[in-house]
Amino acid sequence: MILATDLDGTFLAGDPENRLKLYQLIATHPDMQLVFVTGRGLESVLPLLVDPTLPSPDYIICDVGCTVVDGHTQQPVPGIQAGIDRLWPGERVVEAALATFTDLHRQEVPQERRCSYTCDPEEVTQEMRQVVADLGCDLLFSADQYLDVLPRGINKGKTLRELVEHLGVDGENVLVAGDTLNDLSMYEQGFIGVCVRESEPALLDATESRARVYHATLSGCGGILEAIGHFGFLGPLGLAAEARDILKPGKSDLVIVYHRLPYEEVIENDTLIRRRPSSPNGIIPTLLSFFADGKEGSWVAWAVHDPTTDRSNRPFETHTEVDTSRYARLRAARVALTHQDVDIFYKKFSKEAFWPTLHTFWERASFREDHWQVFLKVNRLFAERTAAEASENAVVWIHDYNLWMVPAFLRELRPDLTIAFFHHTYFPSADVFNVLPWRREIVGSLLQCDYIGFHIPRQAENFVDVARGVTPVEVTQRMGCAPRFLTYGCAVGLDEMTTEIRVNERHIGLGAHPVGLDVSRVEQALAEPSVQQRMEQLRQELGTTRLVLSVERLDYTKGILEKLEAYERLFQEHPELVGKVTLIVVCVPAAAEMTVYGKLQTDIQQAVGRINGQLAEVGWSPVQFFFRSLPFEELVAYYAMADVMWITPLRDGLNLVAKEFVATQGLTDGSGVLVLSEFAGAAAELRGALLTNPHDPRELTATCYLALAMQRREARERLRQAFSIVRHHDVTLWGKEFLQAVEAQRSAQRERQGRKARRINSVA
Ligand code: UDP
Repeated sequence: MILATDLDGTFLAGDPENRLKLYQLIATHPDMQLVFVTGRGLESVLPLLVDPTLPSPDYIICDVGCTVVDGHTQQPVPGIQAGIDRLWPGERVVEAALATFTDLHRQEVPQERRCSYTCDPEEVTQEMRQVVADLGCDLLFSADQYLDVLPRGINKGKTLRELVEHLGVDGENVLVAGDTLNDLSMYEQGFIGVCVRESEPALLDATESRARVYHATLSGCGGILEAIGHFGFLGPLGLAAEARDILKPGKSDLVIVYHRLPYEEVIENDTLIRRRPSSPNGIIPTLLSFFADGKEGSWVAWAVHDPTTDRSNRPFETHTEVDTSRYARLRAARVALTHQDVDIFYKKFSKEAFWPTLHTFWERASFREDHWQVFLKVNRLFAERTAAEASENAVVWIHDYNLWMVPAFLRELRPDLTIAFFHHTYFPSADVFNVLPWRREIVGSLLQCDYIGFHIPRQAENFVDVARGVTPVEVTQRMGCAPRFLTYGCAVGLDEMTTEIRVNERHIGLGAHPVGLDVSRVEQALAEPSVQQRMEQLRQELGTTRLVLSVERLDYTKGILEKLEAYERLFQEHPELVGKVTLIVVCVPAAAEMTVYGKLQTDIQQAVGRINGQLAEVGWSPVQFFFRSLPFEELVAYYAMADVMWITPLRDGLNLVAKEFVATQGLTDGSGVLVLSEFAGAAAELRGALLTNPHDPRELTATCYLALAMQRREARERLRQAFSIVRHHDVTLWGKEFLQAVEAQRSAQRERQGRKARRINSVA
């Protein structure tokens, strides 16, 4: 069976319910081949292929029949395409021959093997027809304005007929659908067909007497569904047999979709215990706080369920409580993953393919199709679990690139939901992002969201840039970035950003929401006697030695090696600092499975050895390297004691360490200097920091020296500025502002839908 359909006005039209019904019907009929037959050029069809709510065509006939390609590979259908090519005299020849007709205007739309113009009906003269005939071409004039010059004898119907024969399908099993005169050639091939409601009158007249053409009463997809029923196209059971189980909405008004559960599971004495996460992650308590008022909600995350390794035979719990004393009606809804799924989806693929690309280290990325398939499977499971949790019109908040494909699956399952997404990492420009082999699928999925948040305007703008390379994007709202963000003052600054785009019918809000800090956590740490003791101990150990501090995970994005080399040069350029400054590097090791970090670790250790080997003296070493994770409280003691906090990532989504340092110094009335890479998201937000370019070795050394030499008064003033930002824009405000922005987008969406419904009603 083949359904061959025109796009604009036909397959892309009709009320949303009928569109969804037809698209789902096609999805449940893998034996039915779908052919798009359109007047658009191939380039204009490509954006439709990234829309996950549209079924993928098996073949595409475009350029009014002049181009025919495989829908999956977009490669020409051999034989048929070559035959058309032979008939086409070439664009330049046609243009030259028609140059004397000055009222013909070439259309600025993609086109191949045909030339498309616009003109008034009276311009289409006999003389023009003769010129076109002499070129060996046909002239097609439609809708009183569009004029196409086509290879002779080529039209939608002719090419469709050749494709049907090429595929060996019986012509009786082909249903064609259209709405304008340039679809007429499809009905003329004798296939059964439908003219949907609101078809061009000339098409209706021309097909009036054709018994095999049905004039539908519904528009677009509704008309196609009517025709499927009318002709019994799907066999005796027709449409009824295909009605899919409608997914029942769940009960949660807010669903958080996060790769991690909001608690840790440990087994003690063979009993499973759940406790608050011990590793620091500032946003989990904030996300949980949305449920503190008794709001009904779900937290979707993965949990390992691996019957091959788990011998306890414990049944998998899809739902668990989180903390009924604080969040009475919040459930964790768990997605069961095997060890292997977790290993590939989370530890390997995301880190090896996406992490390097997102941070502009694309040459380090490796792409594996089999891992992508696992990624898709896991994302689908997340979407299915979410769809079952969310109440009607609920808000779903998805987190980070591990879950990029969730919106695509979720939108299909639950068109009613408001889908919001927050991107926690850097988001690069199109030149880098487009290296990803699956960029179309990823962007197509993100464009199913209603709202997407990034840390800083530059990342949001980069997303728009990437989206524009995939599909037509209309920018519907922009706003200035000052005074909240630096504009021209750092490498990731920007003066203006896009805050809303429109893609097809969907409006997508975009926002900059740099994650804030839980300042009270720093306050609590500082109040602990053990932290005070540690501070005192450090003070005594350091004596008059000035402390430069560096805290980060082991990662090539963090620029640790570049920093060590700059530090080495500091002593060459300022030998008077020998014995007076020490650099403490706290480097958190990567998980053992992440083998990509092995070489970096060796290189760093070698650099530390080299510097200490050359410069250390009795009682003083230039670098102290801790290759382990320190408890947060201990870190705070270091932050308080540091003269310079030296944070130099080559690229970073935000950098929370910078904010933790500022908060600690601010709360202790310190005068430490924050030296921050201008490639960290936080640089666009934290006024008062001394910005540095880690890609410039000379400058990296010079800025560190400047920080060490800075007058206490200036340092204090800079810190005061940064602290007021960190204190005001804390993590609670971050969460609140994000959800408010989602809510505003949702109200605007409703308003638009209401206006549209009123318009339709008044026309009816
Ligand atoms: N951190 C920690 N112990 C350490 C080193 C780091 O608890 O020994 C924490 C640090 O307090 C911060 C987080 O790890 O909250 C690092 O976050 P950041 O945004 O700076 O970098 P990311 O690791 O997310 O790239």
